[in-house]
Amino acid sequence: MIFRDKTIICSGCGKSFIFSSFDQKFFHSQGFHSEPKRCLECREKHSRDTNQASAKPPINEQVSPQAIESHAEHVAGFESFGLTPNVLAGVRLSGYTIPTQIQSKAIPYVLAGNDVIGLAQTGTGKTAAFVLPMLNRLESHRQGNVRGLVISPTRELAEQTNEAIASLGRRTGIRAISLYGGVGMFQQMRSLRDGVDIVVACPGRLLDHVWQGSVDLSSVEMLVIDEADRMFDMGFLPDIQNILRCLPQKKQTLLFSATMPDDVRKLVQTYLQNPVTVQIGQAAPASSVAQSFYPVKQHLKSALLLDLLRQIKTDSVVVFTRTKYRAERLTEQLKESGFKVASLQGNLAQSRRQSAIDSFRRGKVKILVATDIASRGIDVLRISHVINYDMPDTTDAYTHRIGRTGRIDQTGEAFTFICPEDAGMVHDIERLLGKKVERRMLQGFNYDVEAPKAVKVRRPIANDRIEQRSAAKGVSDKRAPYRRAARQVSPQTRQS
Ligand code: AMP
Repeated sequence: MIFRDKTIICSGCGKSFIFSSFDQKFFHSQGFHSEPKRCLECREKHSRDTNQASAKPPINEQVSPQAIESHAEHVAGFESFGLTPNVLAGVRLSGYTIPTQIQSKAIPYVLAGNDVIGLAQTGTGKTAAFVLPMLNRLESHRQGNVRGLVISPTRELAEQTNEAIASLGRRTGIRAISLYGGVGMFQQMRSLRDGVDIVVACPGRLLDHVWQGSVDLSSVEMLVIDEADRMFDMGFLPDIQNILRCLPQKKQTLLFSATMPDDVRKLVQTYLQNPVTVQIGQAAPASSVAQSFYPVKQHLKSALLLDLLRQIKTDSVVVFTRTKYRAERLTEQLKESGFKVASLQGNLAQSRRQSAIDSFRRGKVKILVATDIASRGIDVLRISHVINYDMPDTTDAYTHRIGRTGRIDQTGEAFTFICPEDAGMVHDIERLLGKKVERRMLQGFNYDVEAPKAVKVRRPIANDRIEQRSAAKGVSDKRAPYRRAARQVSPQTRQS
């Protein structure tokens, strides 16, 4: 869709105002299809009046299509939340003009001191939905001890949240630190000793610091458990429970999650006090992402990927594999075929992961081959395509993977390679979407190439030695011809 600046006459004050192409794109990506009838000032005034009329927003709000339409009409700027001037300055400097749905809905509850459950996927602006109220609360009486704690499932997400705090809080003087494994503890300890207001941490490293006595969590007033469903998938439940035991009883707790599996529900029942639930649509892939399935045999996936990358017009692409080994191998294959590519998977040291993300963000490499663990932290706006080289294990992982594209005001495409053994997941994804996903064949691609014959390989090096020993002893070696045949198999065939 093409967006051009429009001039509209405000139905409130009668003056004309510009509905910019950027704002149109943003409105469109948020599901609003009508244009605002009032200018920003009148919308803000309207929203202030409405807020005053109903002092507290309704509890457990679910968003209906009608509510979305009228929300478009009521979208007020960040000014209507009553944030401090320094926090508002950070919002402006970060380039945010209109709050996203999750921000509009969650921020008033959080500022009012409620425990909140935010059911929203990544890419909806959920980070600012908790960062802004946290900055607002902590700025009022800074003390230099840890009063805000954000727990993140991955290093990348922790780093991204820390960056959001630095950007939005640049005028507040609030100090934040991210704590995760894979980098030395000493530097982190020194920063903690210097005094920080907010800690953003992965569970394991946070507990290391608690046990070392290098972090004191007894003053935490506000806790955020981010991407809780992911945290449980990764087996962090015992760690979370240990962390919760170190925190004061009296605090405000916010929990953000794309889905609400039983484990998360139990945690909520145990640790959150009368929480308000704010839900933004279904935990389904954003409508700004066009999805298609490419049926293909397992052994042809790499060839199909290479042809696809040569044929289609892409900007930045993320390719997902199931395992670290497959990510490494595919990265090598793509490099050998002349593509600029980096890999992002758990085997890499933190510094190499960061440099892979940085090169990708700056456009130095156009293709990133990643595993699921890495996927949540990739916050790059220009990702035009997500390619699922391997089918993910859950529909939730599918949603998160393809959510790397089509972010905020962009559109994107997601291709998933499907093999006969993926039938169960194909069914689950289509049920989640409530429609069939288009099947596509790549023109000119030879789908009939047979799989190479599997040859049993019997540890050639050990076998060489057996043969040499038999020859030395003058003993007949009946299996020697088979060993020789195995040695003639090329190293490439052996790998696959
Ligand atoms: P998140 O869902 O928090 O990961 O945010 C996704 C992206 O949206 C990030 O790049 C944010 O900087 C950006 N973002 C968040 N809120 C807004 C907003 N109100 N206006 C424009 N961009 C935003």
